[in-house]
Amino acid sequence: MLAPSYQKLKDILSKSIDPKRILTNPLQTLAYGTDASFYRLIPKIVILAHNETEVIEIIKQAKLLDIALTFRAAGTSLSGQAITDSVLVVATHGWKNFELLDNNQKIKLEPGIVGARANTFLAPHGLKIGPDPASIGAAMVGGIVANNASGMCCGTAQNSYQTIADIRIILNDGTILDTADLESVASFKNNHNGLIQEIETLRDAIKSDEILYHLIKNKFKIKNTTGYSINAFVDYQDPIEIIKHLMVGSEGTLAFISNVTFQTIIDEKYKSCSLLIFNTIQDACNATILLKSRPVAAVELLDRESIRSVENDPEAPKYFKTLPESACALLVECRDNDLIVLHQKQEQIRFQIQSIPTYTDYEFTSNPKQYYFNWKARKGLLPTVGGLRKNGTSVIIEDVAFPLSQLADACLALKNLFKKYEYHDAVLFGHALEGNLHFVFSQDFSNQAEIDRYEKLMSELAILVVDRFDGSLKAEHGTGRNMAPFVEKEWGTKAYEIMKRIKNIFDPHNKINPDVLINPDPKAHLKNLKPMPESHAIVDKCMECGFCEPHCVSEGLTLSPRQRIVIAREISRLEETNENPQRLTDIRKDVTYQLDETCATDGLCALACPVYIDTGKFVKEWRANQINASDRKTAAYIGSHMAGTTAILRIGLKSVSFFHSLFGTKIMKALSNGFHFISFGKVPKWIPEMPKGANKINIKN
Ligand SMILES: Cc1cc2nc3c(=O)[nH]c(=O)nc-3n(C[C@H](O)[C@H](O)[C@H](O)COP(=O)(O)OP(=O)(O)OC[C@H]3O[C@@H](n4cnc5c(N)ncnc54)[C@H](O)[C@@H]3O)c2cc1C
Ligand code: SF4
Repeated sequence: MLAPSYQKLKDILSKSIDPKRILTNPLQTLAYGTDASFYRLIPKIVILAHNETEVIEIIKQAKLLDIALTFRAAGTSLSGQAITDSVLVVATHGWKNFELLDNNQKIKLEPGIVGARANTFLAPHGLKIGPDPASIGAAMVGGIVANNASGMCCGTAQNSYQTIADIRIILNDGTILDTADLESVASFKNNHNGLIQEIETLRDAIKSDEILYHLIKNKFKIKNTTGYSINAFVDYQDPIEIIKHLMVGSEGTLAFISNVTFQTIIDEKYKSCSLLIFNTIQDACNATILLKSRPVAAVELLDRESIRSVENDPEAPKYFKTLPESACALLVECRDNDLIVLHQKQEQIRFQIQSIPTYTDYEFTSNPKQYYFNWKARKGLLPTVGGLRKNGTSVIIEDVAFPLSQLADACLALKNLFKKYEYHDAVLFGHALEGNLHFVFSQDFSNQAEIDRYEKLMSELAILVVDRFDGSLKAEHGTGRNMAPFVEKEWGTKAYEIMKRIKNIFDPHNKINPDVLINPDPKAHLKNLKPMPESHAIVDKCMECGFCEPHCVSEGLTLSPRQRIVIAREISRLEETNENPQRLTDIRKDVTYQLDETCATDGLCALACPVYIDTGKFVKEWRANQINASDRKTAAYIGSHMAGTTAILRIGLKSVSFFHSLFGTKIMKALSNGFHFISFGKVPKWIPEMPKGANKINIKN
C-alpha cells in the first residue's frame, strides 16, 4: 500500500496523466526502477511521462507534497544516479522529436532519443553529435547530457559541455528556461532575479579566488565528471551560459532537461586503425604523449590482461599468446574525409613515435575484417569479463583519469592495487589520449567480507587517484551514489561548498534526485547494493546494462529483456529466501502477461547484448516450465498428429468464413462475442481480419 502522500500524488496526477502510465505494482516498479549500476532502490511510483505539460504537473504536485523525484532516460548509468525509492519519472517514449537547424550545423534533440539514432539523422550529411559513449546504442540524449558522457573520440573537446548550443529545462518550481528563446531568457531573468544573482555571486567569488580558479581550470584539463561542471563559472561570464553548462553533468539533480541543441561534428568518411604492441606500459604511455599533438582520432590502451582475455578469439594473431607479461597494446585510429590526407596522417603518426620500439611491426588497416577485429578486441573486453564472471557477482566498471604525463605510473599503481586486494580478473583499458582508464572486474556483494574488500579498494583508490596523481575519480560515468562520498576528497572543501550551494540554488528542498552527486553519508557507496541471485543459466550472466532495450519489440508495451531478467531474478530470490511471500504472489500475478505472453521470442535482443544473452530463448524455457501435464499431453498429441490438426483447422476456418459471408460482419461479431462470453473466454473472439482456410497443399514428386 502506498503511503498517504504518494497515494495523494497518484490520485492527483491520474486526473491529467493516463493512469495506465502511473505504475505502482511491485512487478513494474522493480522492472522500471532498475538501471545498469550495482545499486538497487525500488521506486514507490514510476511515471511514464510523455510531454512537458505532464512533467511540469508532476514537478509542481510533488513539490506541494514534498516528494522527491528522479528523472530517467535509458537507465544505462553505472554509478547509481538513475534510481530512487521515491518517484521515478521516465522520459523516453514520447520524447523523440528532433530538428536539424542552421543548415545542419546544429541539431535539437529531445531526451528520449538514443544517441546512435541521433547520429542516423546526421549521417546523410556526413555529421554526428560530439558525445560518443560506448553505450551510445542504448543511452539517450537526456542521460548523455546529464552525465556529460563521452567516449574514445570526443575527448574533452567534443563532449556535451563543449558542443551544447542550447538547452530547455524545467526547474523545481515548474518554470521553463529555453536558452534558445530570447523571450524565455528575458522572462526568466525577470522572474528569477534572485537565482541569477546567486549564480553571479558564485561566479565572481570563484573568479576572484586565484587558487580556486586555477584548481578548476586544471582539473578540467582532463576528463572529469566528479561533482558539478563548475568550470562553467570560469569559462563563461553570462549567467545563462553558466546555467546552460552547469546542466551538463548535473545528473538530473538540478532540473529536468526537455531538449538540447548540439553543434554537430564532422563524421569523417575514411577510417583506419592499427594495433601497436609495446614492450611495456611505460613505452605505450610515452607513445601516447607523443601522439597527443598528432592528428589521431583515438588512442585506446589495452593492458596485458586485456589482450589475454581476447587471445582465444579465432581471429586473434598467434603472437597474442606469447606476449611478455609486461606488454601493452595501443589501438590507434585516424580518420579523414580525404584518402590522401588519411595516408599522410598515418605516416605522421609512424614518424612521431619512431623512437619508441614496438614488439612487432605494425600497419594501418582499413580492411573491414582486420579493422573490425582490432576494435572487437577493444570492445570485447567488457563481454569477456562479464561473461566469465562467477554467477551472482556484479560487473564493476570504474573510470578514472590522470594527467597524461602520469599515466604510466598510474597504470602500474592501479595494477598493484588490484593485486593487493586480489581482484585477479581485473582488466585495465581506456582512452589513453585523455589519460582516461577504465577497469572492469567482478564483485560479489552477497557477504560482508566482500563488501569490506570493495570498501578498502575504493578508499585506497581515492587516495591513489587524488593524492598521488591529482586525477579525477570519475572521468565519464558521472558521480552517482558510487562517488558522491568522495567528491569533497577530490575537490577540497572550498569547491565542494560551492557545489553544495549550486544544489541549493536550484533545489533548496533537496527533492530532485537527492543523495546523488552530493551525499553527506561517507558510506553511501556501500548501501543499497543490488542482489544478483542465480535464476537461470541462460540469463545469469546478465549485467543489467540495458543495451538490449532499443532492440526489443515489446519494450514499452510491457517489459524489455533486461526487465524480464530482473523480474525472473527477483522471483528466484524470493523463492529462495522466502523473505516476502506476499510480494512473490503480487509479482507472480502479473508475470504471465508481462514477462511471457508479450515476448516475441525473436532473439533480436541477443544481437545487442554484450554477453550474448537471448532472452527470447529464456522466455521459451519459462513457457515450457509453466505448462502443466495435461497441456503437455495435448501438445505432444498435436505434434504427432499434424496432418489431422491442420485439416481440422482448415475446415474450421473455412466454416467460419462461410458463416461470415452468410451473416455479414455485424451479426458475426455479435455471435462471436456471445460465444466468447458464455464460454468464459475459452472460444476466441472472431475478427474480420481472420484468414480463410487455405487449400491443402499437394506435394507431387
Ligand atoms: C556497458 C556500458 C558502457 C558504458 N560506456 C560508457 C562510456 O564509454 N562513456 C560514458 O560516458 N558512459 C558510459 N556508460 C554509462 C552510461 O551509458 C552513460 O552515462 C549514459 O550517458 C547514460 O545515459 P542514459 O540514457 O542511460 O541515462 P540514465 O541512466 O537514464 O540517466 C543518467 C542521469 O541522467 C539523468 N537524466 C536522465 N534524463 C534526464 C532528463 N530528461 N533531465 C534531467 N536529467 C535526466 C538521470 O537522473 C541520471 O542522473 C556505459 C554504460 C554501460 C552499461
Ligand atoms: S540481456 Fe544482455 S543487453 Fe540486456 S541487460 Fe542483460 S546483459 Fe545487457
